[in-house]
Amino acid sequence: MTNHSLSPLLDPSSALADFAGMNLINGARVPSDARLDVLNPATGRLLAEAAAASVAETDAAVAAALDAGAGWAAMPARARGKAVAAAGRAIAAQSEAIARLLAMETGKALRTECRGEVAVAADLLEFYGGLGSELKGETVPYNPRMLTMTTREPLGVVAAILPWNVPLVLMMLKIAPALVAGNTVVVKASEEAPFATLLCAEILSHHLPAGAVNVVCGTGADCGAALTAHPDVAKITFTGSEGVGQAVYEAGAKKIVPVSLELGGKSPMIVCADANLDKVVEGALSGMRFTRQGQSCTASSRIYVHDDLKDAFVARLRARLDAMVIGDPLDEATEIGTIINARQAATIRSYIARAEATPGAEVIRCGTRPAGAALSPELFELPTLLLGLPEDHPCVTDEIFGPVAVIQGWSDYDDVIARANDSRYGLAATVWTRDLNTALDATARLNAGYVQVNQNLTIQPNVSYGGFGRSGLGKEASLEAMLEHFTRKKTIVMSFDG
Ligand code: NAD
Repeated sequence: MTNHSLSPLLDPSSALADFAGMNLINGARVPSDARLDVLNPATGRLLAEAAAASVAETDAAVAAALDAGAGWAAMPARARGKAVAAAGRAIAAQSEAIARLLAMETGKALRTECRGEVAVAADLLEFYGGLGSELKGETVPYNPRMLTMTTREPLGVVAAILPWNVPLVLMMLKIAPALVAGNTVVVKASEEAPFATLLCAEILSHHLPAGAVNVVCGTGADCGAALTAHPDVAKITFTGSEGVGQAVYEAGAKKIVPVSLELGGKSPMIVCADANLDKVVEGALSGMRFTRQGQSCTASSRIYVHDDLKDAFVARLRARLDAMVIGDPLDEATEIGTIINARQAATIRSYIARAEATPGAEVIRCGTRPAGAALSPELFELPTLLLGLPEDHPCVTDEIFGPVAVIQGWSDYDDVIARANDSRYGLAATVWTRDLNTALDATARLNAGYVQVNQNLTIQPNVSYGGFGRSGLGKEASLEAMLEHFTRKKTIVMSFDG
């Protein structure tokens, strides 16, 4: 077996060959009895066959995690943290190969997306690696003749279920705190993008006891459902769609185990008349995640711009988008890659068609589709701006998960806050203003778990992140996530003898 943590410069093609048809169980690549095709979305051709883990293979991964659990939990917390941080550095050292693999399986551009994603994933391991000694309990002044205290214990085997859009960051947001807290993990990779996940997990496994990190690949209906229902899984952490999130929550409820959910979003961006238009245009570009083809739960996909700025904003955003390079994800010139698959592309196009069929609506397509013999044109979707839609239009209410931003005008501040809050989701929101009173008022009134003013930061390791309403349950990132979601609190009361 190639030791991927020691190879000086990994080759993504050989990593693909190594992981074809494999799960990672008990520190080893284990061939699956069944296979699933994983396509390169940019070419439409087969990238490699991935494992399609059966119930028995999923059970074997949980058994390996369970076996590793007692020894891992018994290690001093700082030693666990040091091992996790070392794995982060090893992943950073192989970042180019991992980023290329990620670009090949997701269609995301190497330069604008994949390199950054690997860097954040490695940083999350280093961040949580330093927090081992923060697994503190409390002492309680209950009775001077008694010692009353709480301790933090690991939960056991954690199931971490991943989507395809930012698999490595979402993987580390789950498994880094879980591992440092003394749990062992079984990752369910996305069937669309399992290979970079496997490669990172294998690098991690070189720094951890065998079985501490396991990965199963396959469909949600097979290995995903088997994993969530498994009696030895003590915690489920899921990122994905709302419907699957409900099924996962039900599976947890049947066993009475904790479940954290990061689901969808339709995040508002409110631009006031006094905002700095240069910053707003750049904020809309980054906030809408156009370089990720808008495939982001946090995308600022409802942009409410004050009527005084709206025409100038649309013109400038359109000009910026027209100039962006859409193309081969591995080409250094490319800023925007492809949609993940044909099903997702069809969904996006059906929403655009509904906007086009709406009287009074304006649909602005930006940029140019790439031409090239090696590229498959179907999954390159143009950045699209939708104007003039009623607030109850599906393009305004639904998560499209594509490069489609709705732009609405406004003139009444209370009305725009109400429109921003009129959503089943509550993941994120941004407000753009130079007025401190407006900023403070809006942050208090917006119904979202992550509210920012005059900026549109992505997930940061030490900043709590998570949604309200249908956007999910529980926070990820930060010390809080490790303590609240990956430990259980035990209360101990001791009497003095005599
Ligand atoms: P998805 O819900 O289709 O799949 C997510 C994962 O769940 C996959 O690994 C899938 O195989 C698995 N799965 C499917 N059925 C299952 C079942 N019955 N039991 C257990 N696992 C099952 O989501 P997706 O299409 O991969 O990702 C896109 C979605 O993810 C979007 O809705 C997006 O908003 C959401 N998302 C949310 C966040 C966030 O932080 N809030 C971040 C990224 C993506």
